[in-house]
Amino acid sequence: MSVSESRTLIGFVEQEAAPPRTRPVELAPGVVIGGTRLVVFAGPCAIENEARLLAVARAVKAAGAQVLRGGAYKPRTSPYTFQGLGPAGLALLRDVAHAVGLPAVTEVMAHTEVDLVARHADILQIGTRSMHNVPLLHAVGECDRPVLLKRGFMATVEEWVLAAEHILSRGNSRVVLCERGIRTFDTGTRFTLDLNAVALAHRMTDLPVIVDPSHGTGHADLVLPAARAGIAVGADGLIVEVHPDPAEALSDGNQSLTPQAFHDLMHAVRRVAAAVDRTV
Ligand code: PEP
Ligand code: MN
Repeated sequence: MSVSESRTLIGFVEQEAAPPRTRPVELAPGVVIGGTRLVVFAGPCAIENEARLLAVARAVKAAGAQVLRGGAYKPRTSPYTFQGLGPAGLALLRDVAHAVGLPAVTEVMAHTEVDLVARHADILQIGTRSMHNVPLLHAVGECDRPVLLKRGFMATVEEWVLAAEHILSRGNSRVVLCERGIRTFDTGTRFTLDLNAVALAHRMTDLPVIVDPSHGTGHADLVLPAARAGIAVGADGLIVEVHPDPAEALSDGNQSLTPQAFHDLMHAVRRVAAAVDRTV
């Protein structure tokens, strides 16, 4: 997409024109998001070791996930918690994804690491804390990999869409938006999943939009209802954290589903998807 075409994304806000149709984005050979079929990304918050990653990868694939997630670089709030395995984690992700036959998504935190991460993963994730990092947005915009752009947890929908524009403006048209919860006055949940944003982003852009009910709630027992709501409001997919033993997880254990709970979530999501003329 050219720069002038991509600018029309924002034009929809200004002109309040009819909603654009969602552009299908090919995430990997045979995996397309933005059509009738929803795409579910699932896996651990962080890559911890090969055995755990392999167990989760097999389980989520068996339950119907189409993309394996897992962080090698973890931008944790505290510097004294697990920060991820870094390059060793990238190698594990590539090997396990290849072994089970799923494409992989992982976060890239620095513009200087885009090439390295792109050699190990099929899809590049921009985390909530990096949404405003323009050099990083430009670097992934120049990369031949689809990009999963998380909304900054204190960003407006317009700022999020403009961050996508930064990527598109450098020539990469394969961008998927991810609503992952924003900070509000309510501390009962970790963040507040903004379902309005899914519908609004679909009105403002033609990009696929997915929902992250794991970070959006912060509590494992709230993930399934939030996932159902996300699909009902029109999301094109979900990204869900799954861990073989959440109590032992090195990050985000509170919001991680067991493989069995993920299986149950997929069953529930299929029923909502059918009600809105989608499949999983
Ligand atoms: C993650 O996906 O594990 C993650 C760190 O997400 P976010 O950037 O939305 O916090
Ligand atoms: Mn996480």
